[in-house]
Amino acid sequence: AHLDVIESAEPQINAFLKVSADVAREQADAIDAKRAAGEELAPLAGVPIAIKDMIVTKGIETTAASKILEGWIPPYDATVITKLKQAGMPILGKTNLDEFAQGSSTEHSAYGNTNNPWDTERVPGGSGGGSAAAVGAFEAPLALGTDTGGSIRQPGAFTGTVGVKPTYGGVSRFGAIAMASSLDQIGPVTRTVLDSALLQETIGGHDPKDSTSIPSPAPAMVSAALEGQKRDLSGMKVGLIKELSGDGFDEGVSQRFTEAVEELKAMGAEVVEVSLPHLKYALGAYYVIMPSEVSSNLARYDGMRYGLRVMPPEGVPATAANMMAYTREAGFGDEVKRRIILGTYALSAGYYDAWYGSAQKVRTLIIADFNKAFEQVDVLVSPTAPSTAFKFGEKSADPLSMYLGDIATIPANLAGVPAISIPAGLSEDGMPVGFQFIAPQQHDEVLYKPAAALE
Ligand code: GLN
Repeated sequence: AHLDVIESAEPQINAFLKVSADVAREQADAIDAKRAAGEELAPLAGVPIAIKDMIVTKGIETTAASKILEGWIPPYDATVITKLKQAGMPILGKTNLDEFAQGSSTEHSAYGNTNNPWDTERVPGGSGGGSAAAVGAFEAPLALGTDTGGSIRQPGAFTGTVGVKPTYGGVSRFGAIAMASSLDQIGPVTRTVLDSALLQETIGGHDPKDSTSIPSPAPAMVSAALEGQKRDLSGMKVGLIKELSGDGFDEGVSQRFTEAVEELKAMGAEVVEVSLPHLKYALGAYYVIMPSEVSSNLARYDGMRYGLRVMPPEGVPATAANMMAYTREAGFGDEVKRRIILGTYALSAGYYDAWYGSAQKVRTLIIADFNKAFEQVDVLVSPTAPSTAFKFGEKSADPLSMYLGDIATIPANLAGVPAISIPAGLSEDGMPVGFQFIAPQQHDEVLYKPAAALE
């Protein structure tokens, strides 16, 4: 049924880079056979899923929406894919994104735009616009994304879907194409909070193949979501982040946010304002640390090991260095090149302490801010993004205005804490608004109760 929806919706949406119909049908048939044989199945067995093309899938082309990986067929599965297969979940295909997950609108894909299902003249958010649009357009009931600075949550907000960035280390990154390794995290994209809980329990937990994976089982998120559905939040203390409201946030976003906060109060939550004073430096720190890690991680695309290889033209010596230069020039898009250059600069001798070193110190201060806030409250809240989905071209020519839109999502990545975005109604422009909960590290279950209560 979902393959049929994909066929009819894709001409308008373009959420998928590749549809793996044969693989999905084969997997679905295998589950039917197991069910018929009376075998015990996992909770999500038979439920199909779309995968952001930042996650490697054995035998299915994986490009990270970059020309440099065109034609690359991974010889192995990411751990999350292995877990989905073990749970009996058919894989519908690979979804579009900003090249190497760098962007907030999916306009930086080398393979064209994905349209927002609510208004096809608007972006679906990014970088995981494909996964969010696929779920929002009912092409897939579930999807996976990756979130380095908001790429699961902001597209969730823009498409009226649910997106979760788990605790750093809570879901294995083995087989997630590295963007900025100290920030990257795989997580669920769904239509309901309970679906996210089910999916996160399926993909979460310790993985010896990822050295940053937390050696303890995934928290009990499904029971927390079910508890939340009772809509009783008495005893819960909610902190409204002072630095993530008011100035810079669109009127329509602020209105829906305030109404949702009132709803939390009506369900018995105590709401107080808390200040995280160093959040004003979060964007600056992120846009130094992230490109630094990008410049290092993307050094592996050298024309030797994966995908594209461009040989120097006649008259230019056919050396390895020249081949790499021509391959990277042709294979990377402008935004990726911008970040590689920025990151290389920030890491270079003489500038390292001033840029990268300072940014890491700011990161430590932000972590301390969160720790202090969580001494006062159980969970923090903010809008997911300062605006609703914008029109194509509105921000793509001005990188800084694009970066500024990440203000509310970046702090959770810098601090490694879990966060969820859920739909909170429509703004006056008719576009969805996202509401964000942030919880303490390794307490992802804390997100799920109030999120399920509010949805
Ligand atoms: N928009 C952010 C960026 O451009 C987030 C990217 C992400 O989470 N992958 O870096």
